[in-house]
Amino acid sequence: MADRYFEVNKINVRYGDIQVLWDIEFTADKGEIVALVGSNGAGKSTTVKSCAGLIRPFQGNIRLDGHDLTGAACRTFIDHGVILVPEGRQLFPSMTIYENLEMGASSKAAKAAKKDTIERIYNWFPKLKDRKNQLAGTLSGGEQQMLAIGRALMAKPRVLLLDEPSLGLAPIIINEIFKELTEVNRQLGMTILIVEQNARKALQLSHRAYVIQTGKIMMEGKSDDLLHNPEIEEAYLGGKKK
Ligand code: ATP
Repeated sequence: MADRYFEVNKINVRYGDIQVLWDIEFTADKGEIVALVGSNGAGKSTTVKSCAGLIRPFQGNIRLDGHDLTGAACRTFIDHGVILVPEGRQLFPSMTIYENLEMGASSKAAKAAKKDTIERIYNWFPKLKDRKNQLAGTLSGGEQQMLAIGRALMAKPRVLLLDEPSLGLAPIIINEIFKELTEVNRQLGMTILIVEQNARKALQLSHRAYVIQTGKIMMEGKSDDLLHNPEIEEAYLGGKKK
């Protein structure tokens, strides 16, 4: 059993006077894919933004490999290798694919490895290679999501955070992207935390998962078990089907 690598301990978050997360607690081991699933407004984005240092919980802490990152600037999270693929992708639309990828290599080590990392990304997502000189703003939604993931990988993450990567994409494209995320995890042993409304896909991709409901963790377990849990099937998987 690997060490507890990434730990979120009882974080509480509020926007103004309104509390939206209550004692959210979960872990991800090194090389593990962990999913956080839940419906609209459950608090998934707030949780993942807290994990990236974009939101500061008023209570609780976030630790990576023994380092307490709680309250640190977003830049510190990036320096420790906690890299977010944001909801909505947030690419540079008037820059090419290649230029967007280059922007992701922010640290000295990432810059030094830039060429190799780009080649690996092109292997996982050949569409990015074929279109490397195309402007990001002219890409399809699926290609933009691939580029957003590629740009995050350029930073050489220790923990890759993904906020709703399937949003707005056709099932076939979601499958393509999730298959390559499995490859990234397998080849690099990278820890991945994925936040998804598409519970079925997220549970198929991940090793373990947590269910979040109105700002609280309601259930956790092996993803395979949750996929076959009648309560989860009913509430998040649209009833029993394959
Ligand atoms: P979705 O899938 O719709 O993005 P989510 O599970 O990611 O949902 P959050 O976006 O984290 O949920 O929102 C959790 C709660 O916090 C919701 O009630 C939402 O209205 C509220 N909220 C989110 N962002 C803000 C904000 N900037 N100011 C005030 N309230 C917010």
